[in-house]
Amino acid sequence: MSPAPLDRSATWPYADGEVGTYHYSRYGHPTGTAAEQALGTLEGGRALLFGSGSAAETAVVLGVLEPGATVAVAEGCYFGTVGLMRLFESWGLRYVEFDQTGPPPDGADLVWLEAPANPMLSFPDLEAAAAHPGRVLVDATASSPVLLRPLEHGADVVLHSATKYLGGHADLLLGVLATRSDELYDRLLAVRTRTGNGAPADPAWLLLRSLETLELRVRRQSATALELARRLTEHPRVEVVRYPGLGDARAARWMDGGFGGLLSFDVVDGNEARRVESSTRLIGNATSLGSVRSTMESRYRHEGDRVPPGLLRLSVGVEDVEALWSDLDQALGA
Ligand code: PLP
Repeated sequence: MSPAPLDRSATWPYADGEVGTYHYSRYGHPTGTAAEQALGTLEGGRALLFGSGSAAETAVVLGVLEPGATVAVAEGCYFGTVGLMRLFESWGLRYVEFDQTGPPPDGADLVWLEAPANPMLSFPDLEAAAAHPGRVLVDATASSPVLLRPLEHGADVVLHSATKYLGGHADLLLGVLATRSDELYDRLLAVRTRTGNGAPADPAWLLLRSLETLELRVRRQSATALELARRLTEHPRVEVVRYPGLGDARAARWMDGGFGGLLSFDVVDGNEARRVESSTRLIGNATSLGSVRSTMESRYRHEGDRVPPGLLRLSVGVEDVEALWSDLDQALGA
């Protein structure tokens, strides 16, 4: 039994000469609608699907902000988010990076948080952000709605790269926005339709398949990540471990029964990070996160001085915890 019909049509016939629910797939299609309904239920709002997380981010910039607006964006967040803001600077967008564990700066029209930040793993002060007069967006990619539902904590918009935990198998590229505001929903939908940034039917169908195992996957990934984070803190070759489950009181207050499958840790320098990432056997040396298969990479190759040269980002999959630990331990070396 399939989770929903896969309808690849680009056009649907008019009914008695009138436009029906679907007429041209850039506006919407049944498989996308089924996925959006499932995502809306998970988030407690109305959801829109985009062709990638970055496409969803672009829709926020174009649909929520006016020229000359200022975004306060979390330090240590996904580097592509800051890259996108830099791209829009020539269109009059301003942005300032700030420490999301404290109150956002005055004067920001939009506060852009990441819960937890990828790859620095800080967790935002959602209460301080909700008290700020600007709108609040939470990129909850690394938590997934299993562990965090930002709309319940005052966020105006929640964003996901569905490529990560929502998809969960490293076989689709999608993005999600969800909101409780009809006004924002209409603006974001208009941008999506006009820019053609929507999701094709095939990955939307794969996403629906993935949502059936979302909770199982995320709870298992969280439990394993917590155990690995604890063991890494004791490892003589590891200098720092970043994981919200290692005593972050804010994360414990808002996350529901787990801290996610993403962590980062530092070895002594960049050369050692490159040696360790290519010495694993079970853990894949690849980018991205959220898949059922564990992956690890040095982020310095992509982000340069935004991160310590020895930082390794580990996305924990659903493999056996002891098998993962023995792989990490042998790669780190005695
Ligand atoms: N937000 C976060 C936290 C991410 O990690 C990523 C991608 O790595 C994105 C957004 C962008 O998503 P996508 O790669 O699906 O465009």
